[in-house]
Amino acid sequence: MNNIVIEKIDFVNEAVLKYEEGSPERIELEKELKNMKNSFIDIPVIIGGKEIRTGNKGTCILPHNKNMVIGEFHKASEKEVELAINEALKAKEKWERMHWQSRAAIFLRAAELVAGSWRAKINAATMLIQSKTYKQAEIDSACELADFFRNNAACLPQIYAEQPISPDKVWNKTEYRPLEGFIYAVSPFNFTSIAGNLPCAPAIAGNVIVWKPASAAVYTAYVIYQLLKEAGLPEGVINFIPGDASEVSDAVLRDKHLCGIHFTGSTRVFQDMWGTIGNNIKNYRTFPRLVGETGGKDFVIVHNSANIQSASRGLVDGAFEYQGQKCSAASRAYIARSVWPEIKEIIIGKAAGIKVGDIEEIDTFMGAVIDQKSFDKIKGYIDYAKNSNDAEIIFGGNCDDSKGYFVEPTIILAKDPHFKTMEEEIFGPVLTIYIYDDNKFDETLALIDNTSGYALTGAIFARDRYAIDKAEKALVNAAGNFYINDRPTGAVVGQQPFGGSRLSGTNDKAGSKFNLMRWISPRVTKETLSN
Ligand code: NAD
Repeated sequence: MNNIVIEKIDFVNEAVLKYEEGSPERIELEKELKNMKNSFIDIPVIIGGKEIRTGNKGTCILPHNKNMVIGEFHKASEKEVELAINEALKAKEKWERMHWQSRAAIFLRAAELVAGSWRAKINAATMLIQSKTYKQAEIDSACELADFFRNNAACLPQIYAEQPISPDKVWNKTEYRPLEGFIYAVSPFNFTSIAGNLPCAPAIAGNVIVWKPASAAVYTAYVIYQLLKEAGLPEGVINFIPGDASEVSDAVLRDKHLCGIHFTGSTRVFQDMWGTIGNNIKNYRTFPRLVGETGGKDFVIVHNSANIQSASRGLVDGAFEYQGQKCSAASRAYIARSVWPEIKEIIIGKAAGIKVGDIEEIDTFMGAVIDQKSFDKIKGYIDYAKNSNDAEIIFGGNCDDSKGYFVEPTIILAKDPHFKTMEEEIFGPVLTIYIYDDNKFDETLALIDNTSGYALTGAIFARDRYAIDKAEKALVNAAGNFYINDRPTGAVVGQQPFGGSRLSGTNDKAGSKFNLMRWISPRVTKETLSN
């Protein structure tokens, strides 16, 4: 019997630790980094809680030290995909009938593990495998992941408490059912927290999951899986199937029990998945819910009334933290001509002070980009700018993949506001700047709105409130997360629910009740009490 009515679960963001020399967290993390580098793990496919070793393997390497391999993972084939779907469906009934407070307890416990005894392990994996610095790993894999788990739990009673009105002699009730079938979660390489949230948000609402992590980050995804197991997640609720993206996806997307996609990654991949689902639409038992957070070409506009120091800091941090591999990274900037000389000097000075290198050195600001493909793509854009008469590289531009995939923080000045690097997502440490005449502020807002197909994040730096108000209105559809006098990155769960529209996704706001609602299908019961 459970007749406990819980109206509210309190949510507080996990505090960010500092990793100062000699601090307990630093000592523990350094120990774990060493430990991981000196061991080698063999990562299985995990279906219904059982480990399967297919023998078709991929490797886990360090992007900043590409010849160091610290693990291998087994890839799922079509056969394992079918098995995973069957096991998920087998686990479904028991899981969805479990009292929601018990499901929430598993993820609240997972949050305690992330923030406590597993913190060093998950941060070390993120640093080594995704080449994140201490700070970037801590805000992602420790704090944001714990925040997602806790905030999702806190959102459940808010959703469940919402009930229809019941006039005289009638009792109306809404029951919040999970979806019928299984959810396919597909995660990107760049955020451990997102990788954890994609399978876990639908799961906390009572759904069962088939989860394909990004190949470059399977190691960290496996740490998350193990942690969830330790937190008490029952077998079969989340099935872990790393593998070749199209082979796995083709098999998943044709299954009639598919009832939802929880995706974060590039726009093209999500468009293709959507297309495949469209082609298969008559085969499904239900209309799959499609949730995808995709690419960005995030803007910063600096008005001539801006605080120059804050704007410069926002540009550099926004563009270069985590090597520009955040979907929200500042990648195109529009700066008023009158303030440009001052800003130019400051941002070049700041970029010159950025240490690129080994993420185990605490003063490193940028590690390596994720892999060879990404390195080649970024270098391609930089080379394009080097060879163009419409642009000038005013800082950086060097790329070196001899030891790891290192790209210098790079600033391009574009003469043409539609220059290629002003429009396309590069997903690397490249900021392109266009200088606008101070008296063309309104036209520049229109330019920003029309330049790129994406609409994820954007920022304005200004002190003039008329300018801020104008930008807020003119750019209302240009970003799902808009920042005033702050960089366009660093959204915090519960504070700035995250997501964008247009080519940036379905804007279902990860880590909020809007997102959880997508994994819920309400049933309403009317009972007439007088009959
Ligand atoms: P990606 O699209 O290459 O991969 C994402 C996932 O999709 C991976 O698991 C990958 O294996 C899988 N995938 C690749 N091809 C597939 C296919 N044909 N069918 C099915 N699945 C396939 O993206 P990535 O490089 O891992 O991540 C970077 C991208 O993610 C950027 O575009 C970035 O803007 C975006 N992103 C967006 C957000 C957001 O909240 N909007 C957050 C993080 C990352």
